[in-house]
Amino acid sequence: MTLHTKFAGYADPALHAQGLYIGGQWQAGAGIPVLNPSTGDVIAEVPDATIADAMSAVDAAEAAAPGWRATPARQRSEILRRWFQLMTDHAEELATLISLENGKALPDARGEIGYAAEFFRWYAEEASRIPGEYRHTPSGSHTILVDHEPIGIAVLITPWNFPAAMATRKIGPALAAGCTVILKPASETPLTAFAMARLGAEAGVPAGVVNVLTTRNPGPVTSAMLADPRVRKLSFTGSTGVGRTLLAEAAKTVVSCSMELGGNAPFVVFDDADLEAALEGAMIAKMRNAGEACTAANRFYVQAGIHDDFVAGLTARMAALKIGAGYDPATQCGPMITQKAVQKIDHLVSDAIRRGARTTTGGAPLPGTGYFYPPTVLEGVSVDAEIAHEEIFGPVAPVYRFETEEEAIRLANNTEYGLAAYVYTRDLKRAMRVGKGIETGMLGINRGLMSDPAAPFGGVKQSGLGREGGVTGILEFMEAKYYAVEF
Ligand code: NAD
Repeated sequence: MTLHTKFAGYADPALHAQGLYIGGQWQAGAGIPVLNPSTGDVIAEVPDATIADAMSAVDAAEAAAPGWRATPARQRSEILRRWFQLMTDHAEELATLISLENGKALPDARGEIGYAAEFFRWYAEEASRIPGEYRHTPSGSHTILVDHEPIGIAVLITPWNFPAAMATRKIGPALAAGCTVILKPASETPLTAFAMARLGAEAGVPAGVVNVLTTRNPGPVTSAMLADPRVRKLSFTGSTGVGRTLLAEAAKTVVSCSMELGGNAPFVVFDDADLEAALEGAMIAKMRNAGEACTAANRFYVQAGIHDDFVAGLTARMAALKIGAGYDPATQCGPMITQKAVQKIDHLVSDAIRRGARTTTGGAPLPGTGYFYPPTVLEGVSVDAEIAHEEIFGPVAPVYRFETEEEAIRLANNTEYGLAAYVYTRDLKRAMRVGKGIETGMLGINRGLMSDPAAPFGGVKQSGLGREGGVTGILEFMEAKYYAVEF
């Protein structure tokens, strides 16, 4: 990896890694520039792995697998616990690195590091509690024993929006289960993944247990790994479109898939809601990572009686946010990941305006260097606008007015996605009733943030398959083996 001088001043040199990480060795290389979205400058260049590199990573993961699988759970647990501690000790440098390559504001980056490290602590604890079953058959013919074994080599593919947490949410349970892994981080944000691999080695992760590859050609490289019969698991977080392609690829060798895909979260506010709490929750649900989150509130449905006050309050809060470089300590809203992302947001907002929406703040990309789009509130948005159906992935809050509970549920479900939803009301019966009606994997009730390592994270419909985190997350990396025993 080549570090450019603009990068050197920001991050701790101890966390500078040297390239592809395969079998515990760093392989230097170049070919993928990494940009600072706050300025557009190239800050580093990382290697562009070939299919041959990917096969070397599979070889390394295979060579390490028997030893890792046989390592007592307590020992695997303690390695993960040390990794948690090292991430915590290096939290500030890691957060700076994330702000630099991803652009998110430092408070968001610090929050991400805390959240990311917690997956290692949680799965350090779960590693020593892998469940089994002992059952009597109803017929009395024999005894049923169920064991859980590590599924095998896992390919982990992560997006750029949470470069640390999406990796630890997969590596934690995989290593706890006894699997060896190949991580392919997004090309936009590889530096965080490399830095974490360095800390993993320091924590005692044996060579080959975690391998890290960056590539410009994720399609062919991933297909080659999935075609190899030694690879038994694909855990992917990213867009629904790429998820569909990978499910088709994985079908060829019947590889087990966990899929964390796109979202289009509704945020429903009833007349009886605590307005201040709803506004506070709205800001968290919308503006964490400047809106670049799969759980981001994408559609605000607000009941007629509270609608105008909600729009006024949201507009005041959004307009007051300080926009700037991610790593500037004063920044509350950083840049988008790329210029293309800004163009997509601009297109969605322009389309909504063409169909009758009105902006109460923001509404156009900011001129100058860096990829900035300002916090924006739209009201009077048509349910036919593209923005009502597409993931915005930016700091734009479209507000829609509704009258009845049934209408709110119908509107909330009018999407192919079903990852996250939010409901604000003082009536708990209504909250639970609406919660049951909304097709979603996760529901925040009077709360704008649901992510927690101890909870099952995931979606229904085209938002994904399987769950990460919680007590079931480890089972995504295990196979049940049934022993029919007669004695
Ligand atoms: P993306 O799908 O473009 O990329 C995700 C990852 O897949 C990257 O590492 C990318 O290099 C890789 N990739 C791209 N094409 C591939 C291919 N053909 N084969 C193999 N790998 C390929 O998504 P993105 O733009 O990086 O991330 C944003 C998306 O991720 C949003 O849709 C967001 O909702 C989703 N996301 C979901 C969750 C969740 O938990 N459900 C969390 C974060 C992000």
